[in-house]
Amino acid sequence: MPDLAYLPWHLAEQHGSAPALADERTELSFTEFDARSAALAAQLRALGLGRGDVLAIKLPNRVELVVAIAAAWRLGAAATPINPAFTDTEADHQVSDSGARLIISVDGSSPTSGVAGLAVDELATELPDEQGPLAPAPVAGADTALLIYTSGSTGRPKGVQVTHANVDAMSATMAEHFSLTADDHCMLILPLFHANALMVSTFAPLRAGARLTIRTGFSASRFFDDVETLRPTYFSAVPTIFAVLTAMPPEVRPDTSSLRFAICGAAPVSRELLDACQTRYGLRLVEGYGLTEGTCASACNPVDGVRKLGTVGPALPRQRIRIVDADGHDVPTGETGEVIISGPTVMAGYLNNPEATAETIRDGWLHTGDIGRLDADGYLQIVDRIKDMIIRGGENLYPKEIESTIAQLPGVLESAVVGRPHEVLGEEPVAYVVRYPDSQLTADDVLAHCAGHLTRVKVPAEVTILDELPKNPVGKIDKPSLRRGLAVT
Ligand code: ATP
Repeated sequence: MPDLAYLPWHLAEQHGSAPALADERTELSFTEFDARSAALAAQLRALGLGRGDVLAIKLPNRVELVVAIAAAWRLGAAATPINPAFTDTEADHQVSDSGARLIISVDGSSPTSGVAGLAVDELATELPDEQGPLAPAPVAGADTALLIYTSGSTGRPKGVQVTHANVDAMSATMAEHFSLTADDHCMLILPLFHANALMVSTFAPLRAGARLTIRTGFSASRFFDDVETLRPTYFSAVPTIFAVLTAMPPEVRPDTSSLRFAICGAAPVSRELLDACQTRYGLRLVEGYGLTEGTCASACNPVDGVRKLGTVGPALPRQRIRIVDADGHDVPTGETGEVIISGPTVMAGYLNNPEATAETIRDGWLHTGDIGRLDADGYLQIVDRIKDMIIRGGENLYPKEIESTIAQLPGVLESAVVGRPHEVLGEEPVAYVVRYPDSQLTADDVLAHCAGHLTRVKVPAEVTILDELPKNPVGKIDKPSLRRGLAVT
């Protein structure tokens, strides 16, 4: 395999006319993918984009988004994909902070003065006649490939500098871990401005010669139609999507026999939900864990080896995971501490933010801000996020433990526990619960269940039944927004 084997010109040499990318409008083979990205690269070069520059891409999931990333790479530039639902103010922050010179958007509008916009239907699909083939610029491992912005739940969104060496290591690791081959077919349903979709569902399968079908805006019925007609071999999704699938009416019984496995990650999930989804649809679900700063995944359960429900699996090849205390010392096996990660997928740093970079990467170890424990087999369990921990009268409470207890109650589909400010105790836990559509469960039932299974300090001070939980654009439960709605009691 050549170095940086996921680059489209290498893929075209290896996989030629085999199908590569498709959405509802466009289908491209590997050769066509390379040709389309070369044509777009020529157009972008004429507009002034070159080596070391940044291309902003604000598009919903579609083939052109992946083609645009590849075009930037062909010029030695980096790409920064922007959430298509962003307002101009939000998009302007990303465009300005990343220093993008050009933006590709649906209608060609640009949120930032001085940065030209190009509409998706103006993108060149063929090289101009007078121009010979556009040779790819040399790409080095240390070059920035992608600037992926964190969701900003901890302040202003930060630009994670993902290098080509990071993409190379991550795509190789994923392709290996899931034994991806040219016979695989990934159904891409997560948004492409997020590391998960870019790595697990795009560059890992492409690298293996597998094909992908790109969808935008998740709908369970269309998803099952796609699974039955296109017969993909895997997909990656967030817990919310598995919750939606699990809550479908009982008569929904799709044929899922083409799916070798499905990946659940990006946020905490209860084992009850995973179990319910596996049993109902006959899926082999593997839970994984990672963060954008580690270019996506750092641990994952195996598809064929021992899967341990309730854990996110062992460290992936090429990566190391340690659990440390506040002084940075390793804690004994089975004890909790902060999860820290090292390996070739750790980001170069946060763009324009050396302080945050120095705080996050220390001595080559990425400090995740997650609390976890490793068992004797090296399987990682994520206990919670440090920033989601509730401190009630000096006692540390982990919302995930309370959520896991609530999840055991029949009728519970999803829940979220957050800290409510309290004048005396500092904080106290409150719970929000979403029921299965046919459930009659009440807030008192949840409280009684918690009182029967948890020590008093962990029992929520209040339980509220909601129709749905607020979610961020990737589908993760938006705890900051739940917290914002709470007043001091
Ligand atoms: P921000 O860092 O700005 O809050 P974000 O949550 O969108 O944004 P990501 O990099 O997408 O940032 O998410 C990484 C985090 O998601 C991890 O640090 C961890 O807290 C959580 N996470 C990912 N996978 C899992 C999992 N399987 N179980 C529990 N938590 C997970």
